Amino acid sequence: MTRKSRGILTVVSGFSGAGKGSIMKELLSSYAERYALSVSATTRKPRPGETDGVEYFFKTREEFEQMIAEDELIEYTEYVGNYYGTPKSYVEKQLNDGKDVILEIEIHGALQIKEKFSDTLLLFVTAPTAEELKHRLIGRGTESVEVIESRLERAVEESEGIEAYDYLVINDVLCESVDEVHHIIQNEHYKVSRNLEAIYEMRSQLKGFAHQTDVLKGEL
Ligand code: 5GP
Repeated sequence: MTRKSRGILTVVSGFSGAGKGSIMKELLSSYAERYALSVSATTRKPRPGETDGVEYFFKTREEFEQMIAEDELIEYTEYVGNYYGTPKSYVEKQLNDGKDVILEIEIHGALQIKEKFSDTLLLFVTAPTAEELKHRLIGRGTESVEVIESRLERAVEESEGIEAYDYLVINDVLCESVDEVHHIIQNEHYKVSRNLEAIYEMRSQLKGFAHQTDVLKGEL
């Protein structure tokens, strides 16, 4: 019996500053052959050290709206004044190639994806405490006070939506969180509902053995 090879689509959301980015970076470097991380398009300006096509595809509003018009995005949303969206073609290709695809996106996008693809796995990442979250956002040093404030306000809104997710990861020790995320995703491959093709094939083969007394005698 062999499992079907299509990858698992996982959405990872979490409060800004919870450490999703660091978890994803470690996960991908530890298991490069297993996972593919979708690169989103955004109208946000690159932060120092960010490269077009690596962290994001950086777009103007006009370019982004063109992508929407041409149906190139699986989902998109506006977050703290900027557009963010997931390009469709890469995700579909990687899933078909058997990779477990991860979308690191916020909650509205997560819910749009779940609506379109009901077998999507939803993971929510948080820092251990609200205070710690604030420290991490300030410590990042890349955002203005206004942006930090809007991100904390947005966190309140997002905290109302956590119940829609399947799993909660409390990111205290990074390597432990990476292991947790890896195990949660890999366990999904064992679910009966994700192995129906293999099950039907086994069932049909077993039925083929019925009323074959002569064949069985011959094989004894
Ligand atoms: P940041 O500006 O900190 O890189 O991202 C801001 C928020 O946008 C994060 O919560 C991030 O997960 C989310 N985000 C990034 N890409 C996408 C996307 O393609 N779609 C949606 N809906 N959210 C995204």
